[in-house]
Amino acid sequence: MQGFEAFKLNKQLLSAIEALGYQSPTPIQQEAIPLVLAGHDVIGIAQTGTGKTAAYVLPLLMKVKYAQGVHPRALILAPTRELAVQIGDAITGFTQFCDLRHTVIYGGTGAKPQIEALQAGIDILVATPGRLMDLYLKGEVYLREIKTLILDEADKMMDMGFMPQIRRVLEIIPTKRQNLLFSATMSEKVIQLSEEFLEFPARVEVTPQATAAETVSQSLYHLPNLRTKIDCLSYLLSDEERFNRVIVFTRRRQIAEDVYRFLLRKLGEDAVRVIHANKGQNTRLNAFEDFRAGNIRVLVATDVAARGIDVSMVSHVINFDVPLVYEDYVHRIGRTGRADQRGEAITFVTMAEEYHIQKIEKLIKTKIPVAQLPAAVEVYPTPFAERQAMLREIDNQRKREDPAFQGAFHEKKRFPPKQTKKTAEQQKNKAKRRRR
Ligand code: AMP
Repeated sequence: MQGFEAFKLNKQLLSAIEALGYQSPTPIQQEAIPLVLAGHDVIGIAQTGTGKTAAYVLPLLMKVKYAQGVHPRALILAPTRELAVQIGDAITGFTQFCDLRHTVIYGGTGAKPQIEALQAGIDILVATPGRLMDLYLKGEVYLREIKTLILDEADKMMDMGFMPQIRRVLEIIPTKRQNLLFSATMSEKVIQLSEEFLEFPARVEVTPQATAAETVSQSLYHLPNLRTKIDCLSYLLSDEERFNRVIVFTRRRQIAEDVYRFLLRKLGEDAVRVIHANKGQNTRLNAFEDFRAGNIRVLVATDVAARGIDVSMVSHVINFDVPLVYEDYVHRIGRTGRADQRGEAITFVTMAEEYHIQKIEKLIKTKIPVAQLPAAVEVYPTPFAERQAMLREIDNQRKREDPAFQGAFHEKKRFPPKQTKKTAEQQKNKAKRRRR
């Protein structure tokens, strides 16, 4: 594979690449860098972890060249604060030997230092759409000199409802400019957006849509209920050497919180943090930074909170439950096995989740191997209510597949002792009351 020299980047950039320890370009960099340098509009389909940031930042830095004036000439939009900060960090790394200036603006924190940074003069602006519009409407940011617009994780931005802000930005910035759009998936919405604002884009794609990262070895455990899942998680995490940097994903905030509390008791405060949408931005960012720095071993996260997380050397991703947005599975496991390291993704599956796993297997065109449950994991009986809830879910899944399906939930007759008894009793009482 050719090295970075072949792109004819300047000396300062090549030195920075060397200082960062990159030896050769990743496939997305290989494909995208020459196109961006040649001035094309580009649509890049690549997940976090593929090296997509450098794929657009390096040629952008060549284009912006040197510090000039006060107002930004390039604008990078990202859906979350975490991703925006990460992009900012990447730019800091690549500009360590030149004088290019950039700043990152995002919501959830005071605007004053951000405004001051803008006033001091910058060449590249990294922003989340909401804060950008806030500051624009206050007259604090001038966008008429933008010559390059980059949308990173465009699919996420649209999922998060940023489309109106993006449209607004498109109206404000000069029409003569280069546009780059990066997205993990090529959804219908992304196609629409690209038609709206890219001109004859070249398309580069490194991971065919929804193909799970090849460097990740995947497996799943069939587990009957929540309590057994907890026991299994606890068993796995007791191997500190192997499970040395772990993200535990959960579908919902409450489960994230429950799992976190359990792990907190078991592993102690120094080992685990949780991030979900209810946590303040700062708490989230701190947890994430601590995890990234290797100060804590386990991070519990919901899908939404984990958007854009880039942590290298994650040893394991554990899916405590199966995501219902099937593409999130690909995003989740993409957190491990980054930049050529091997990673492991383990998924816990109850009987109600098998349906979703089958859908995911179809999407990733891979059968996820089933692992034998370690003997040390205690299998607990399933509480009645949990079992009923799962059966109801399975019923709904069957109805979704076959609208003519009448529902088999009357199967509950098979496990009813308590409830029917109660109901019978209740009925008797009711009848008594009526007679009175
Ligand atoms: P990204 O997909 O841009 O979030 O990058 C994922 C990780 O890979 C980041 O930690 C980058 O620093 C790293 N990375 C990007 N390009 C390369 C490269 N060519 N060689 C080694 N590591 C890289």
